[in-house]
Amino acid sequence: MHSGPTLVRSGLAAAFALGLALAATPRDAAAQEAHAGSHQHGAGHQHDPSHHAQHHGDNPIVIAIHGGAGTIRRGVMTPEMEQAYRAKLEEALRAGYAVLQQGGTSLDAVVAAITILEDSPLFNAGKGAVFTNAGTNELDSSIMDGATLRAGAVAGVKTVKNPILLARAVMEKSPHVMMAGTGAEAFAAEQGLEIVDPSYFFTESRWQALQRAKAQEAGRPVLRDEEAEAPEADAPEADAAGAALESAAHDVAFPDDYKFGTVGAVALDRHGNLAAGTSTGGMTNKRWGRIGDSPVIGAGTYASNESCAVSATGHGEFFIRNVVAYDICARMRYLGLSLQEAADQVVMQRLVEQGGEGGVIAIDRQGNIAMPFNSEGMYRGYVDRDGNVVVEIYKD
Ligand code: ASP
Repeated sequence: MHSGPTLVRSGLAAAFALGLALAATPRDAAAQEAHAGSHQHGAGHQHDPSHHAQHHGDNPIVIAIHGGAGTIRRGVMTPEMEQAYRAKLEEALRAGYAVLQQGGTSLDAVVAAITILEDSPLFNAGKGAVFTNAGTNELDSSIMDGATLRAGAVAGVKTVKNPILLARAVMEKSPHVMMAGTGAEAFAAEQGLEIVDPSYFFTESRWQALQRAKAQEAGRPVLRDEEAEAPEADAPEADAAGAALESAAHDVAFPDDYKFGTVGAVALDRHGNLAAGTSTGGMTNKRWGRIGDSPVIGAGTYASNESCAVSATGHGEFFIRNVVAYDICARMRYLGLSLQEAADQVVMQRLVEQGGEGGVIAIDRQGNIAMPFNSEGMYRGYVDRDGNVVVEIYKD
């Protein structure tokens, strides 16, 4: 399946085996899941008049977040882990939403939500970032302001505690859009951002994931914490059904490897402005300074008041080649598609045809929300224009 080095990416073979069965509309299916918060989510976009009344005369405010897409299945995670993920996602959502409620900007809301996820070891961004082949953590992030099309991005930084803050500083405090490596770190220091020792990013689970990825690459038996033995990691491509089964067995053996946990947020503020941001450690075992889609404006992140705001997560190479975030916005503008139609065409059709695994969160200026993903699951949540707070993980 891989032509290059083994980057850890989940369930691609399984995705092919399941084919278009994955093309169900996740948000509809997922709406039946248990919801966070006290509000019940109504069917589709129907409005509860009592909720709607509270926003009468105001522009809608909306926020959506993701914590990464991958092979995330019921039964693979312990109830405690699931609860921890849900709680952290809800905390981030509520922090972002509070900014919007107070009349703050969508940029501030996006940053508020993402910094909470970056600071949590549960997600592959900031603390909890995955390891490169060299055993380092190299972080990528980007942010975009839909009102002005200003954007900022950083790639391959190793010492900046919150890369989303640096992306924002690039946007607001420099004439540039993108900075990388040591230069970006020097700029971070100049801007007074918090600099940490690289050891800050170490987490045992990500370290073990790197060891397994390396063992897999070398064709060695893959051990989990010195005990569990893995099934063969790479199934023959020809046997798709077998690959799906092996993939499932592998996930049970190694649930942590396959939750990628890139984080992102999109928001619509009272002023009618959209913003989007994304932050990641990239992919386990990456090397040669590999950069994914997350810091690439138009691929992993895009926002324009003319169309929509998008943050992506998934196998970055596919998202770059398909300019995913921009393509969704462009389809709305050029083809007059709805947000859901545009997002579905890109994520559930084009990416699926190419084997590009992942998903997006997207919102438009009316406050519509679309969160299609073609993987087994995607950590995600939103507060819709009626104030409903929803956190979801699985496909169904
Ligand atoms: N898109 C990220 C990358 O390729 C990884 C992810 O979202 O899981 O770097």
